[in-house]
Amino acid sequence: MAIPLGQIARVGSYVAKQRLLGRDKYPLVLMLEPLFRCNLACAGCGKIDYPDAILNQRLSVEDALGAVDECGAPVVSIAGGEPLLHKEMPQIVRGIMARKKYVYLCTNALLLDKRMDDYAPSPFFTWSIHLDGDQDDHDKSVCQKGVYDRATAAIRRAKDKGFRVNINCTLFNTAEAERTARFFDDVMAMGVDGITVSPGYAYERAPDQAHFLNRTRTKTLFRDIFRLGRQRGSKWEFAQSSLFLDFLAGNQTYRCTPWGNPTRNVFGWQRPCYLLGEGYARSFKELMEETDWDAYGVGNYEKCADCMVHSGFEATAVMDAAAHPLKAWAVSRKGPDLEGAFAPDIPLDRQRPADYVFSTHVEDAMERLRQGGGEGRSAAE
Ligand code: SF4
Repeated sequence: MAIPLGQIARVGSYVAKQRLLGRDKYPLVLMLEPLFRCNLACAGCGKIDYPDAILNQRLSVEDALGAVDECGAPVVSIAGGEPLLHKEMPQIVRGIMARKKYVYLCTNALLLDKRMDDYAPSPFFTWSIHLDGDQDDHDKSVCQKGVYDRATAAIRRAKDKGFRVNINCTLFNTAEAERTARFFDDVMAMGVDGITVSPGYAYERAPDQAHFLNRTRTKTLFRDIFRLGRQRGSKWEFAQSSLFLDFLAGNQTYRCTPWGNPTRNVFGWQRPCYLLGEGYARSFKELMEETDWDAYGVGNYEKCADCMVHSGFEATAVMDAAAHPLKAWAVSRKGPDLEGAFAPDIPLDRQRPADYVFSTHVEDAMERLRQGGGEGRSAAE
């Protein structure tokens, strides 16, 4: 199963509890970025463009587990940078699982062979391997030849050892439906448990700005991929909700839920979401209570116009499923509608223009480091 039954039950009861308590804003997945340093430099990445002093920062075990406790989300996705470069990652993962949280450890897999034995198979633990398509597409996406072969060899080895393994796949406007469908068939044949798929977010700092998908192209591409899957009887297991897939296929008018996947990294709690770093809060409480959420999202802010990324909209889909279980059940049974008109999109005519704040918070972080921060400490402290 793409999502363990225990996780479905745990998230379901967590959402039901939040609704009973009358909370309208609550986190579902903590995005934990314990470092920005990576051993690849992908063209579509907006996460690694920092001075060395910041790339050398790590969240300590204490900071990482403190963030898990502060946030309280039932699922933790560890991203980066490349998490396997963090020497204390096994302790962080063990500490999260000891709290009965579900951990997704994202990796480009280059270090997986070397580090795999530091971890043990568990229903609470899933490797989430970055693969953006077949050999040619993935190696181009990560700007290095041979990465696909190393990643797929590591996937097979992890499956042999009894681990749960998902792939996380980001699609750009170079994606072809036929090749993507074939790629999904290939990874399922490798024995992966689930596929997480998302259109790429147009990171303003990504070196390659020419290949991000716009909303109409995203919806058309996903309909084409799903249609091919149906035609060939493919059994793709997506580690995503049926309504999020329906949204990708253009059948839902959703606003994002940026607090659903709050992000903690070496700067602090990132505002407003995993994709946009427009400021940092010192605590999770401050993030939730003092962020001007209405300033962000499709229709509100220029940088959000094309966003359909899972970290922004999966929580919307899960909350919609909790409010409308019959709708979610019908879509999971029949799959997304691939032929009707797209659901209306949110108008963009009143969005505020983009604010370019990246260099300001990098300078602020550098100043804090000069004043006494060091490796192993958060730049927010
Ligand atoms: S639409 Fe929402 S999730 Fe996407 S970048 Fe904007 S605030 Fe973040």
